[in-house]
Amino acid sequence: MPVTPDDTIFALSSGPPPAAIALVRISGVGAGGALSALAGKLPAPRRAVAATLRDSIGETLDCALVLWLPGPGTATGEDIAELHLHGGRAVVAAVEAALAALPGLRRAGAGEFTRRAFANGRIDLAEAEGLADLLSAETELQRRSALAMASGALSRAVEEWRTRLLVLSASVEAVLDFSDEDDVAALPAAFAADCAALAGDLDTWLARPCAETLRDGFRVVLAGPPNAGKSTLFNALTQSEAAITSPVPGTTRDVITRSVALDGVPFVFIDTAGLREGSEDPIEQIGMDRARGVAAAADLVLWLGEKDDSADRASVWLIAAQIDRTARTIDPTAHHAVSALTGAGIAELRRALVDRARTALPAPGEAALGERQHRFLGQCREGIALAATQPDPLLAAEHLRLARLALDRLVGRSGTEDMLDTLFGRFCIGK
Ligand code: GDP
Repeated sequence: MPVTPDDTIFALSSGPPPAAIALVRISGVGAGGALSALAGKLPAPRRAVAATLRDSIGETLDCALVLWLPGPGTATGEDIAELHLHGGRAVVAAVEAALAALPGLRRAGAGEFTRRAFANGRIDLAEAEGLADLLSAETELQRRSALAMASGALSRAVEEWRTRLLVLSASVEAVLDFSDEDDVAALPAAFAADCAALAGDLDTWLARPCAETLRDGFRVVLAGPPNAGKSTLFNALTQSEAAITSPVPGTTRDVITRSVALDGVPFVFIDTAGLREGSEDPIEQIGMDRARGVAAAADLVLWLGEKDDSADRASVWLIAAQIDRTARTIDPTAHHAVSALTGAGIAELRRALVDRARTALPAPGEAALGERQHRFLGQCREGIALAATQPDPLLAAEHLRLARLALDRLVGRSGTEDMLDTLFGRFCIGK
């Protein structure tokens, strides 16, 4: 059911002025009226037209390119007008003031255009989430994954799973409703196998690396005793690289964090306080506790120092550092040998880090589930598994209903009408 609020919203949809061009979008029932009020008349739909924009007393505001996009075939599903203005601060302010003075128009809240697009069924929740990730993408890998989500990769998969679930539900409902009819007295022999096949398809998605690692970056912690060369290696790995500006949650004061993209792959490098035995200094001890904390939460630890038990773990790489020092003997079991001073081994280490991170991140262009989506898909999978092993058709039907509900929540839709349509369509109820 389309939602048509009375109010019409407008906002600057391009970056902050000054800029070459500023795009102001207007969406809602009053968009056409607002455009004709400013431009004098409504241009032909879907044509870019040059127009002089004036305020209510006839003062010229700007000469702009305007577009009239009548709904529902628009981004929000509502009537939309676009004003491509000269991107000066005062120009934008004057046009916004003129729009705000029109009855029924108000400034849009954060994400309100997208919210209306969702409310009007133009996009579902998974696509809206992908869109949000796309807008905050800073690396090539993030962009490609977010684009897949925003373009409906997960939504299409959900639609397909949903149809299969409806077919399964319909067969169980038939057993319940028509158990006195010979042809539908028992669950179809293929029921359990179909459930297992569907659960298997969901497992493929559930097993994929999650979107959070992609969004926040692959966390590499440099740890080891004091003076091992951690900070120098940290600088060598991060300094010349493209910085990522998105803040990383959980950053503490005494660990130094830097987000960079290596080869289009997002990383967070974390330099920590040196770890050593027997320190009496309480401040140093706090620093060391924090260092252990971030190391435990890391995707990978680069351990600079003597090999110890922890270096055997797959998430720890033993790094022989400062190899240019002639007095050093290089541990043959070291994963990498580097000199941050001469640059020896740094390119190889960087390449290995990129390869390692790629295995923990979604493949390029592959849609990745966020925590919320993972949770609902997990619930759906559980429902299917329970239905498959349930001897009582009544309970099987309930588990399938819950599985479907989880999918509906995932994409932000609800309702049981479709299930009934499928049921009636498949079993010739009216005969
Ligand atoms: P951290 O305490 O582990 O962070 O160690 P630092 O990075 O501060 O390095 C300790 C000392 O070793 C400093 O004087 C650095 O200049 C020096 N150093 C670090 N890396 C190298 C290297 O690769 N070669 C040489 N020769 N000296 C290094």
